[in-house]
Amino acid sequence: MSSSLRSCKVLPHARHFDVLIVGAGPAGAHLALRLARAGFHVGILDRQRFPRPKPCGEFMSPECLPMLEELGLRAALLAQGARCLKGMRLHGHGYRAEGRYRSFGGAPAPFDHGYAIRREVLDELALEAAAARSEVEHFEACSVSELLRDESGAVRGVLAIGPERERLELRAAWTIGADGVRSAVARELGVQRAVPGLDKLAIVARYDGVPAADHAEVHFYPDAYIAAAPVDEHVFTLNLVLDRARVPAGGRAGLEEELARRIAASPELDAKLGGRRPCEPLLACGPLARTTTRQTFDGAALVGDACSFVDPMTGEGLYFAMRGAELLAAALVPALHARRTDQNALAPYLRGRKREIVPRQRLARWMQSGLRHPALVRGFLGLLARRPSLADLVVALTGDYVSPRDLLRPSLWREVLRRPVVIGARSGAF
Ligand SMILES: Cc1cc2nc3c(=O)[nH]c(=O)nc-3n(C[C@H](O)[C@H](O)[C@H](O)COP(=O)(O)OP(=O)(O)OC[C@H]3O[C@@H](n4cnc5c(N)ncnc54)[C@H](O)[C@@H]3O)c2cc1C
Repeated sequence: MSSSLRSCKVLPHARHFDVLIVGAGPAGAHLALRLARAGFHVGILDRQRFPRPKPCGEFMSPECLPMLEELGLRAALLAQGARCLKGMRLHGHGYRAEGRYRSFGGAPAPFDHGYAIRREVLDELALEAAAARSEVEHFEACSVSELLRDESGAVRGVLAIGPERERLELRAAWTIGADGVRSAVARELGVQRAVPGLDKLAIVARYDGVPAADHAEVHFYPDAYIAAAPVDEHVFTLNLVLDRARVPAGGRAGLEEELARRIAASPELDAKLGGRRPCEPLLACGPLARTTTRQTFDGAALVGDACSFVDPMTGEGLYFAMRGAELLAAALVPALHARRTDQNALAPYLRGRKREIVPRQRLARWMQSGLRHPALVRGFLGLLARRPSLADLVVALTGDYVSPRDLLRPSLWREVLRRPVVIGARSGAF
């Protein structure tokens, strides 16, 4: 995208929408579907053709399921092989702790499981459901090149490059950046920032034929972690996340070597993979973390990873994308009815983000700081291993149905303390 924001004459073939969404991942597709159901004319464009690869742990927290249900996507996901995972197992420093999704301290678990499903399936299903609506026009293989502004500076659409390198002028009352962690829209609006101290890379690998369990898992190393989940009937997806400074030289072969070395250093993972090699080419991506200083503008807003993303360890990015889309749709619908395009019309969206998304991302940042101290991680895992109720609380937090604010409630801690303690939890023989 060019660095200049341009006010431009309407091309003869300009298209007009109520809302134009840049990026057709979960945030963009869910938003399109919600706005279409409210009767608005939506354009949604993505630079890729779907299904497209997306580096991801492919695990969805329980709190995503009611949103999928509401949009009529849950049954279809199950039919396409979504695997129900009932908790998370944490390994490292000689400890193993397991938390299960269950109602906690008065916060009801919406389901006793989350889903693991291939991103190709998850993302295509939501986009197909949106694109099937008569209110939605989908532009694939179409990349934004510029934002359009009116004389007041309000965003009024985009110029995009289509699949045949043709120039498209797409105008809208509202333009939404749902274009992921390296959002071109956020960059163009001048609000994108790196997250200080977080410069990590993820290596994502899939394995075939690994016996499936009913939980996701995280393996902690002193300087890295692996998050993994059995995904649909056949695939085990594994993410190695490490500081970019520690990424070995040697290109793809170097990454493969590093992955093999880390797997060999985790006895449980090594035994589980049984010498298997990845069944698909590795995906690598980074830096993973980005944030923005503002999310709403006259005529524009950001949603999903385009607003901010910290780290995949807690497996909440899909929840942030889907819930962000829900909150934004709830603010956009009355704004569109009232023909408002000023940023103040989206104040409820910002309040919702501040209430529900920002505290979770703050917690994720604290966790990332904690990971820098192996002694702290060791102590924490030991505590979780001895107190399974605390492990349940941790997965309830990352499962998105207990909020960080709930940690201030004494009843929640009474529940943790009431439950039995495991004696001699430390073990080298998992
Ligand atoms: C390694 C890794 C593992 C993860 N594991 C998990 C997990 O297990 N569970 C979980 O909940 N979350 C996980 N996440 C986070 C999750 O993947 C994201 O939070 C989620 O995909 C955000 O959805 P989104 O729609 O905002 O963005 P995306 O899914 O990134 O979609 C953005 C879309 O915008 C398009 N786009 C980008 N630029 C342009 C442009 N200029 N023009 C047009 N289109 C454009 C892209 O092609 C893409 O399709 C993980 C992330 C990483 C990196």
